[in-house]
Amino acid sequence: TTSSVNEYIDSVYTTATARNANEPEFHQALHEVLESIAPALKEHPEFIDARILERLVEPERQLMFRVPWTDDKNQVQVNRGFRVQFNSALGPYKGGLRFHPTVNLSIIKFLGFEQIFKNALTGQGIGGGKGGSDFDPHGKSDAEIMRFCQSFMDALYHHIGEYTDVPAGDIGVGGREIGYLFGRYRKLTNRHESGVLTGKGLGWGGAQVRTEATGYGAVFFAEEMLAVKGEGIEGRTAVVSGSGNVATYAIEKVQQLGGTAITASDSSGYIVDEDGIDVDLLKQIKEVERLRISEYANRKSSARFISDGSVWDVKGDIALPSATQNELSLRDAETLIKNGVVAVSEGANMPTQPDAVRAFQEAGVLFGPGKAANAGGVATSALEMTQNASRERWSFDDSEHRLHEIMRNVHRSAFEAAERYGHPGDYVVGANTSAFVQVASAMLAQGVI
Ligand code: GLU
Repeated sequence: TTSSVNEYIDSVYTTATARNANEPEFHQALHEVLESIAPALKEHPEFIDARILERLVEPERQLMFRVPWTDDKNQVQVNRGFRVQFNSALGPYKGGLRFHPTVNLSIIKFLGFEQIFKNALTGQGIGGGKGGSDFDPHGKSDAEIMRFCQSFMDALYHHIGEYTDVPAGDIGVGGREIGYLFGRYRKLTNRHESGVLTGKGLGWGGAQVRTEATGYGAVFFAEEMLAVKGEGIEGRTAVVSGSGNVATYAIEKVQQLGGTAITASDSSGYIVDEDGIDVDLLKQIKEVERLRISEYANRKSSARFISDGSVWDVKGDIALPSATQNELSLRDAETLIKNGVVAVSEGANMPTQPDAVRAFQEAGVLFGPGKAANAGGVATSALEMTQNASRERWSFDDSEHRLHEIMRNVHRSAFEAAERYGHPGDYVVGANTSAFVQVASAMLAQGVI
């Protein structure tokens, strides 16, 4: 019955949070998934008998390791490294590495838990994992970044492999870091195992469109949600947070589809450019020169820089939160709703706070949760693994076409599951139930493991 299913879910949540005290982000991610899957569990009592939920909330393996490195002043520094191998029922663990001073076990576990379901939605046969370090790349020299990456790989290389666990980038980890990590892996193992990491350079095993994929995919997902209502991106204004990989290419795709993306942000504030963000200038400042976002306004007269308040104070039809977790509060949601937002597509992982998600849904705003909307990045990583395994190289257009097809399928899976489980239009319920049933079915078939 409904009440016994709800009691079961509550008891799993209570036990898991007690066992993992002081991990608020992990608790939040657990709650978000568990509270939405009751309709699927009701149809599958065999998942309850096999204790699938109790197994799902416990990572298969959690690694924590010391990362010692020498800075440019010849001082030894020590950071902490993580890799959480959460679930491999559908394929090798797959997920990024985050280098940011706020990284801790709670954050890596929330990201790894989300990744299980996101990766299931891509249909690419990949399990879920995540890793990273509390290392702060900001202000470090290139040589320091390299020595840190080498030490990180010294600890990690035993535990990864093209059929075991395939890390990639996330916040603070881009092409440069993947290069240093890959070089060290190759040297330590005496193996040119290109499928061990994704997000590699195009000249040494990388895939076309991987850099663009998360941002492009989040816009494709918004486009699919709007299409259900007979609407599109053309002529629409988009407000975007962040200025990394995800935000930059979300902005680029909005403009390619005839919309205007007018904002970008970093931890120092945000810029508004009513003419539309100049993507080349944004890349030059953030990626090449690694400067603060305010520099954009110094170089472009149509833009202004605002250091207080929130990027969500800016009026737009489509919101693409593409910075970090919990960046969009209830107050921000209320402002966006008042200003007429019609769709929110999460480029980042869990950027919208739970009460803000509820506010959007109650106001009838189309809401695409990150585990569906930003799945294009990891999906294109899987395409990179396929090309590495087959030694093929696909063109940009072919790769973008495949990404687009995958995003259509992710949208369709979430949309149809939402209808099937009695919550039409609720992409949170749709994404979570669809992904959960896939992972749980695989776990059930594979026995008590
Ligand atoms: N870090 C990205 C994510 O959150 C990409 C992971 C990957 O490509 O493995 O999905």
